[in-house]
Amino acid sequence: MRKVMKFGGTSVGSGEAMSRTADIIMSYDCQRAVVVSAMSGVTNSLLEMMGEGGREVPEYLDWLRQKHHDAARGNISNELMPEYLEQLEHRISGLGHLVHLYRQDEDRVMYQDALASWGERLSSLTLSFILRTRGADSLALTSEEIGIVASGPPGNGSAVLPATESNLRRTLSPLLNEGKVPIITGYYGADLKGRPLTFGRGGSDYSAAVVANGVDADVVEIWTDVDGFMSADPRVVKKARTIAEMDYGEAAELAYFGAKVLHPRTIEPAKRKGVAVLVKNTFNPSGQGTRIHGLDRNSKELLRSVALKTGLSIVKIYSSELVYQPDLVAKILEAISADGTTIYAVSTSLSTLAVVVPTGSVPEACNRLKGFRDQVEAVKVKEDAALICAVGDGMLESCGVSAKIFSAVADVGANVELISEGASDIALNFMVGGSKAVDVVKRLHELYIGD
Ligand code: ADP
Ligand code: ASP
Ligand code: MG
Repeated sequence: MRKVMKFGGTSVGSGEAMSRTADIIMSYDCQRAVVVSAMSGVTNSLLEMMGEGGREVPEYLDWLRQKHHDAARGNISNELMPEYLEQLEHRISGLGHLVHLYRQDEDRVMYQDALASWGERLSSLTLSFILRTRGADSLALTSEEIGIVASGPPGNGSAVLPATESNLRRTLSPLLNEGKVPIITGYYGADLKGRPLTFGRGGSDYSAAVVANGVDADVVEIWTDVDGFMSADPRVVKKARTIAEMDYGEAAELAYFGAKVLHPRTIEPAKRKGVAVLVKNTFNPSGQGTRIHGLDRNSKELLRSVALKTGLSIVKIYSSELVYQPDLVAKILEAISADGTTIYAVSTSLSTLAVVVPTGSVPEACNRLKGFRDQVEAVKVKEDAALICAVGDGMLESCGVSAKIFSAVADVGANVELISEGASDIALNFMVGGSKAVDVVKRLHELYIGD
């Protein structure tokens, strides 16, 4: 049995949480590679440090040093403490040096991902010393050291799976065979020049799935702060239920369209190798959790889970040329996504193309649309829209499903702004105004999932 265990920000967020996490890791004796996030709040601070007008750099560095000291205190033995402190200091000063370069240089983008990745370098070091204190043969390893290869735009990279697999066979598999417990930095890989490239916020789940793919693990466990994958975000729907088993497809749709419990691309590397994904609660380890795998379900539940993605905009492009130029839609979509902007939904009519993108990407998208001056008559943007992803069995097969879903939308007085239906067999996606989105999710849950 070989597994990859990923612990999120809250699971390593304090000395107490790190101690629980260490208990969980020590409670197994199979081969295990551990992937960690930064301590909660750390990545946000690193990003804040890169902005203008925040605290002075030494203040951030002191805060980081103190936070990790506090987590180490009482968890790392007196014998190991000096070695830990020396390595921690080495990493903190490495960060200081990098910020200095970042502030001096015109081409700041080059350093952004490296800086953002620093929290994982500190948390993995701390957890590995805690495990050594408990007698495990543990070592901290960075994504560069084991060879997680990444490509794509800054802040939104993807792993190059074949290259990563061949590296991990060489770097990581032998360590697992020897019974070592590697603690690996989540969130990023290294591009072909060896520069850190992050996988987007929450990217450590994806890192874990990539590692599981590379070492042919039997399971990848995502240890977080809720009991599993639930029928809705429990912060939005208090009575959300934990789902015992899910198919890869269901989890992938929900994660992509807003269920924050998994990074949007976590399922893909796991599914490729048939690795099961188990979502578990660090704060309730005896709970069953959710098992995500290739599942052939017979039961037909109208609604299994609802996800919500806010911060989106609908860009409507008006062009009478759409009828005459069959390739215009493709060209416009290519222009909008040229910088790596994710397009969440597309809908077309005779002379209109509606495209859903993150609100932050709208100015750049509109800028690039200026290149279509001769073909496009107008561009209108509806900001503050939210996408709701409803996942259930046989969304396409059963009659009246949409009617039922949209009656819930009408119940709360929301207006459906755009529908994407039929592309997936199990999901129905639609947009509503941001202010009504939570009410829609609550109503759908109340009607079709219940208490
Ligand atoms: P971690 O730091 O462990 O990666 P995250 O905060 O990224 O944890 O993800 C866990 C959070 O995801 C939960 O606290 C919960 O609020 C949110 N969440 C959103 N949708 C769901 C869902 N369908 N099931 C479970 N949790 C969800
Ligand atoms: N630390 C990163 C973030 O906050 C990655 C992660 O937590 O998965 O986004
Ligand atoms: Mg997360």
